[in-house]
Amino acid sequence: MAKSSGTISAAMAELRIYSHPACLEHIPGADHPEQPVRLQCVLDALHGAFPEHFWQQAPRALREDLTRVHAPALVERILAAGQDDACQWLDEDTACMAASPEAVLRAAGAGIGAVDWVLEGSSSRAFCAVRPPGHHAATASATGFCLVNNIAVAAAHALGNKLVRRLAIVDFDAHHGDGTEAIFRLDPRVLYVSSHQSGLYPFTGETPDSDPPHILNRSLPAESDSQTFRRLWHEELLPRIAAFAPDLLLISAGFDAHRADPLATLQLESEDFAWLTERLVEIAERYAQGRVVSMLEGGYDLEALAESTLAHVRALAAQPPR
Ligand SMILES: [Zn+2]
Repeated sequence: MAKSSGTISAAMAELRIYSHPACLEHIPGADHPEQPVRLQCVLDALHGAFPEHFWQQAPRALREDLTRVHAPALVERILAAGQDDACQWLDEDTACMAASPEAVLRAAGAGIGAVDWVLEGSSSRAFCAVRPPGHHAATASATGFCLVNNIAVAAAHALGNKLVRRLAIVDFDAHHGDGTEAIFRLDPRVLYVSSHQSGLYPFTGETPDSDPPHILNRSLPAESDSQTFRRLWHEELLPRIAAFAPDLLLISAGFDAHRADPLATLQLESEDFAWLTERLVEIAERYAQGRVVSMLEGGYDLEALAESTLAHVRALAAQPPR
């Protein structure tokens, strides 16, 4: 693999970055926090470090890819928005407009393309630089800026491959991935692991005693710092992922737990995302033939989002010592 940037480690896994220009066209209003410029900043940062040969145009998901995890009525409603110029609100902060169907089909399609690609090889990793985000979207509801649950679509697609008997979805967004959890709550082939800020939207994932063994929610108090975050993952969550021995590791990569983020008050640094990514890659190398697919979720401070995503993708690209 060519190494035209001095910032990239000499020992590298196979990495692909999936994205599509349509993901910049979904615009939920001028003062909405989930803006196209978020993705543009991520793309600018990644293009600076990863030259053209790393990049793949996201394929378009099929309607049946979405209905594996979503009610047909919800999928129809979202896709029908393409025939109407008016902006529809699916909840008070989740909008759908003419450009949204292509954006969601490419965002979900990125995950499908990435899963297919990592399952073809070994030590293959992919990052999907897409929006709108997905982890709050549940079977029959689009909510919390999320229209289609991209990581759930990718997981359901992966479970259709005989190489994947079980998989883990790791979600380190500051908000609990309630949609993802709900979709897989009755499916023990999927280990869902989330750390998120307590008392924050969507106000779920706070009663671990009521969760089945394959759902692992841990809320962190507001203002929790790097040390608290790393201790939780090191002592509890990472060992549980290793014990599950997933055939594939999927990541809901939200970066709004960064201390600069305006929508949450956790106190992480970009290096914390790199640290966790390195540990997840080690687990994937041990159990999942190095296969990791990560998809962008939240992150609303543009500088922190770009810096954190770059740290995460660099760690994804690095090959740990064997
Ligand atoms: Zn979030």
